[in-house]
Amino acid sequence: MIYSDLTRNNSLKHCAVMPEFTVKTSSREQMIDVTALVRDAVKESGVSDGIAFCFVPHTTAAITINENADPDVTRDILYKLHKEIPQQDDYRHAEGNSDAHLKASLFGASEQILIEQGQLILGRWQGIYFCEFDGPRHRRLIVRVLSIA
Ligand code: ZN
Repeated sequence: MIYSDLTRNNSLKHCAVMPEFTVKTSSREQMIDVTALVRDAVKESGVSDGIAFCFVPHTTAAITINENADPDVTRDILYKLHKEIPQQDDYRHAEGNSDAHLKASLFGASEQILIEQGQLILGRWQGIYFCEFDGPRHRRLIVRVLSIA
């Protein structure tokens, strides 16, 4: 873990309201806490009241919100997903990663977090996780900070 594996794309560095990040995953299935990145994007945007819209433009990766206090929670999530949705099964998709497509659809490609007084409204134990299901790869994470004030 993991912040060393997360880099902001230089090409979009100047664009404060729509930062894009590269997430480098190191195993086939992995959950990476990106909460600090999203917080930074909100801070840089200067938006006080709004929504942080996080989007993963991939079909075998996803984003979700869950506990970031005990690392065993993400371990258990991945353990159970791996157990219930095995990589090998009676799938037809020739690419051999149907399990990853299934897991990505279960979690979804986006999350929206409200912003109040410049702060993400997250529960005390909540973190934002980028979810890799067919890594390791370099992935994109788009964060758009929208003002609703
Ligand atoms: Zn596929």
